[in-house]
Amino acid sequence: MRVLAAVPTTVPDRRPRAGETMPFGLYVHVPFCAARCVYCDFNTYIDLDHLKEDYVRALLREIALVGEALDHRPAQTIFFGGGTPSLLTPEQVERVIDACAAAFDLAADAEVTLEANPESVSPSYLRDLRRAGVNRLSFGVQSFQDEILRFLGRQHSAVRARQAVEWARAAGFDNVNVDLMYGLPGQTLAEWQETLETALALAPEHLSLYALIVEPGTPLHRWVEHGLVAPPNDDLAADQYEWALDRLAAAGYAHYEISNWARAGGEALTPTRASRHNLLYWRNQEYVGLGAGAHSYVEGVRYANVKRPERYIAAVERGRLPAEAPAPALDPRSLDPIDADLAMREHMMLGLRLVREGVAFEAFERRHGIPLQARFGPTLDRLDEAGLLERLPDRVRLTRQAYLLANQVLMEFL
Ligand code: SF4
Repeated sequence: MRVLAAVPTTVPDRRPRAGETMPFGLYVHVPFCAARCVYCDFNTYIDLDHLKEDYVRALLREIALVGEALDHRPAQTIFFGGGTPSLLTPEQVERVIDACAAAFDLAADAEVTLEANPESVSPSYLRDLRRAGVNRLSFGVQSFQDEILRFLGRQHSAVRARQAVEWARAAGFDNVNVDLMYGLPGQTLAEWQETLETALALAPEHLSLYALIVEPGTPLHRWVEHGLVAPPNDDLAADQYEWALDRLAAAGYAHYEISNWARAGGEALTPTRASRHNLLYWRNQEYVGLGAGAHSYVEGVRYANVKRPERYIAAVERGRLPAEAPAPALDPRSLDPIDADLAMREHMMLGLRLVREGVAFEAFERRHGIPLQARFGPTLDRLDEAGLLERLPDRVRLTRQAYLLANQVLMEFL
């Protein structure tokens, strides 16, 4: 049974060429955290520890249901995101991976990433996780300065973050990402430089650098509103980002997405250690989101699961796909078919985030049946004249000048 087969989509030819496999990934959301960071607006909860095992059982059930609905579709990646996935036991993680392998045609060399917080791992935990089948770790470090970590509400110290990466190496992980944040209140350029240098000394294969965003509804937002904390200093954040661009290039990292760098592997447009799972998003390819609040893009349709873990568990226990009511299996009309023009705009907004790869003319035309220039000519001309877009013989991509303005530039395609 293909639950989603009845969903109308006007997206033209999504089929791979002969011999190609349509890339596809599995995102598994783990909505538990030990404490709430002051800037966080993710779908995560600090008081639902008692639900963990029920939640894992619901995940196993949902994975089986979705795998069946999608005819055991081939998948190349699994990504445990959160929340704090490292609050699951290695045994729970292994059961989820095994369920994915049983329900989908999981590639033998699948990339299996797990987001981990430094305080929640130990040498033995990481060894067991590696044995469970995880082969890529993404550490939420954010800073190597204790004062900043305390301000953010993080639960680890700088020492613990360094240890966690070293333990990961000892456990056999050869693919490690470190997440860092810049543009933080009170964070000087020198402090940012020290944080990045500390990360580089650990030689991670991948680095994700995110500017702080003050999201409504967070404690940080209230503090800024009440004048207790200075709002982000955009000029300083820009200087921090610019410095990182040069420093990471000098250190041998390829900048492949606005906020992401990976160990360079020759002149390829995409470095070998790029996140294969996240590339699915930026290339506007398909994935299924499993777990509370997880988003999916399957067969040309985007949908989200119910957010609250209790509601998610209850829906799955009733044997239903836990999409926001009404469930797609019961009423496909409740879904949001991506129409042809929206698909083209999404292709640009996501693809241009890939700063090396950009959007290839041939791939755009093959997917949408219309040349890129024919659909977006005036917009491309305008951005080109403003020095924000580079036209190569086979593709367009952002210029360095556009990186800091990326959000505004990408909105031009909305
Ligand atoms: S650890 Fe991550 S998901 Fe959890 S509260 Fe902090 S930022 Fe949010």
